[in-house]
Amino acid sequence: MKKNWEHWKPVRTMIVRIGKASDNDYVANDPCISRHHARLTREANGSLLLEDLDSTNGTYVNGSQILKKRVVPTDTVTLGNSFVLNISEVLKSRNDYCEEFAALKEVYDRYIEAKIRIQSSNQFKTRLFQALPFALPGVVGVAVGFMGKRSPLFLGISLLIAICAPAAGIYLGARQSAKIPRQLQDLADQFKTDYVCPKCGTFLGEIPWESLSNKKHCPVGSCKARWVNE
Ligand SMILES: [Zn+2]
Repeated sequence: MKKNWEHWKPVRTMIVRIGKASDNDYVANDPCISRHHARLTREANGSLLLEDLDSTNGTYVNGSQILKKRVVPTDTVTLGNSFVLNISEVLKSRNDYCEEFAALKEVYDRYIEAKIRIQSSNQFKTRLFQALPFALPGVVGVAVGFMGKRSPLFLGISLLIAICAPAAGIYLGARQSAKIPRQLQDLADQFKTDYVCPKCGTFLGEIPWESLSNKKHCPVGSCKARWVNE
């Protein structure tokens, strides 16, 4: 099954973590705010869910304390006693690239698949081109050989094929094997464009997706995009 994946856009949910600790997406430095105070989730349908993460001073929407509540950007959200949270600002601070990162698994798998396909198909064609001319005179030779006994012309053709075919085969085989680096180069160029951090665009190298997902965050200091939710 082939997914037409170039045109595939994820319907994403997005999580913004809010709190005083620096590993939040939205760092709010205020004494009344807990280290990991709240979480705002934008669901795939666009609706917003605000959750209190067992904070010390609580989360309030339009004056009422909440544990979990759907909100709209015009609601007044207060963290602790006094910190007013601007929902629109919070949404801009997103650092959650989990869905985009998950999509990179397919980019990596497809790259490896294509690479192996190119290598093995070229190997086959190269061998075929190189072997065919040696097999061909044998087959033709049997047919022509019978007639060659009676005709010097057929004998000449038979000899010509026997001499020229291997030369042509070596030439075609060499040309075929020269195609490998070019095709691989094109593939590698495309991979460099596609296999990048969804936030900062840094090429991730030929590192398996699973290894990257173990890192959970983009290693680029100025980026730190979250790739995997802990
Ligand atoms: Zn990054």
